[in-house]
Formats: sequence, structure tokens, C-alpha cells
Amino acid sequence: LSEGLNALAQEPALTPDGRLMPIYVNTGLLADVEPALKCGAEGVGLYRTEFPFMVRDRFPSEEAQVPTYRQMLAAFYPRPVTLRTLDIGGDKPLPYFPVSEDNPFLGWRGIRVTLDHPEIFLTQIRAMLRANVGLGNLRVMFPMISAVSELDEACRLLGRAADELREEGLVMSSLQVGVMIEVPSAVYLAESLARRVDYLSVGTNDLVQYLLAVDRNNSRVADLYRPLHPAVLQALRQAREGARRAGKPIYVCGEMASDPAAVILLMGMDYDGLSVSVAGLTRVKWVVRSFTMDAARALTDEALTLEDPDHVRELLNGALVDAG
Ligand code: PEP
Ligand code: MG
Repeated sequence: LSEGLNALAQEPALTPDGRLMPIYVNTGLLADVEPALKCGAEGVGLYRTEFPFMVRDRFPSEEAQVPTYRQMLAAFYPRPVTLRTLDIGGDKPLPYFPVSEDNPFLGWRGIRVTLDHPEIFLTQIRAMLRANVGLGNLRVMFPMISAVSELDEACRLLGRAADELREEGLVMSSLQVGVMIEVPSAVYLAESLARRVDYLSVGTNDLVQYLLAVDRNNSRVADLYRPLHPAVLQALRQAREGARRAGKPIYVCGEMASDPAAVILLMGMDYDGLSVSVAGLTRVKWVVRSFTMDAARALTDEALTLEDPDHVRELLNGALVDAG
């Protein structure tokens, strides 16, 4: 099997009936670049900028951040590289920025922190924009958006950083801006959010945790953490419809996109691309190349009628076994 998977590396992520399903990589490490390109990644769907922040003992300066982002943008050029703004708090603490809360996952995390600290946010955005000069493959992405007002504020700050840089004489290259759909409220707001940006990307790791009220890292409730839960599937479909109404693409960058069973559903719901860890790239590509859109849609329609995540799993696993 592994030989077969290796042979897939340079094949396109094309369904048998000719639909391209771009597969991007999730990363935070330069070490992933080479293996990702070898597996034919279409770009980076999620670069977790927390990593370069975690390995330091203080907030890195703009000067220090530029080369980190530039290396990723250049390595994948001309493919898109999605740099997510700092998503600290919750399960991603920074040693030099202690936050103590009773409910960290419901507290000060992601965009909430950076909107309260515009100096941190502006420094990071300026570094991203500078790293993109002469390239133009940057996609900026905002985490943990739960209201339209937060997105408007983030976009306003982004505009301010761009204005500053222009005044300083920088010639900016094009970029895209996107929002993560990972808080349940954002699912209901998907259309309004999508109208304001270039794309949406569903973060299923958090979305599942918040929809089902199950801590993604608590082993005691791990068996309640069900990405194939009917409520999760409804949410995924609804987010997709919201993006569609706004005429914008929507991707998935949570772990769910690495699960072959879930890949069938995301194809069937007509998602525009998947972002997965390097280790999952070839397997996901195999699924894409094994199911026609019609087959994926039929399985998805059936899955959406089921009320038990186990039955969804059985249905899809059966289809995967039949596909070889
Ligand atoms: C997610 O929440 O699904 C996601 C991709 O982001 P992270 O795992 O970094 O929270
Ligand atoms: Mg998340």
C-alpha cells in the first residue's frame, strides 16, 4: 500500500469525473516544506504562527517575524500560503504571556487577544505584508471570529498596517484575507463573514469541541468528541451554503479533513479544498481520486439522514472498503 501511496505523490487531486479538490498542508514548521511539496501539496492551508512565537522568550519583533513568513511564502510560491494571525490562549499558551482563567477555551484566545492588543496584531500583520512583497501568494487568516464586528475590526487594522507600509514607500503585492469558521456563531454568520473576505476555512478541531461541548484535549470525554456527529455535519453543510451565497470559496483546515470518511462528506458537500497535516496528504488524495462527485454526493445525502455518528461511520467505511 505505501508504495501505491508514494506513486500518488505527483498525481493531481482529481476525482475520477474530473473535479479538482486542492489539498493544502497544515504546518507551523519549515521542516514540513520539503515533504509537503514532495506529496504535491497545493500550498499551505494553515500556518500556525504560534509556533515561532512559542520557541522564543518574548514577542518576536517585526524584523524577526518577516524572514519566518518570507521563507514559507517563498518555499511554496506561487502556491498560496495561509498565515493565520496569532491564536494564543485556550490550548496554546505562550510562556511569556501568562493568562490564568477558569475556562480558557471560552476565554481570552485567538482574535480576542490580538484585538485587545493591537500593537501585537499590527506588528504581525506588518511582518506578513512585508514578507509578501514581490510574491503575492499570501493569504491572511483570522482565528476564533465569533461576530461580524470582530472581523470588521481585524480588517480595519489590516488596512491600517497596509496604509502605514505604503506611506513608508513599500509596494505591496496582492493578498487574500479569510476567516476561520470554528465558533458555532460563525456558522450562522457564514454568509455575512464571507461577504467581507475572500474565503472561509472551517476549523473543525474547535468547531466540534464547541458544538458538542467536549474539550478537544480531555481524555475522559474523548469518546464524546465525534466529528461525524449529525450536528457537526449540519453545521458543515450550513457553513458551505453561507459561503456559496456570498460567492466565496470555503475550505476545511481541521483534523477532520484528514479522516478518509470525512473527506467523502466534504467532497459531497462541495467544499473547495482541504488542508491536512503532511502525514495525511497522500491518503486524502487517494480518497479524492477514488470517488466521483456523484458518488460522494449520494453518500453525503444518505449520511445526512442518519442520526447516529456510528452509522455515519459505518456507511462511509463501507464505501471506503468497496473503493479498495
Ligand atoms: C481548528 O480549530 O480546527 C484549527 C485548525 O485550529 P487549531 O487546531 O490550531 O485550533
Ligand atoms: Mg482552532
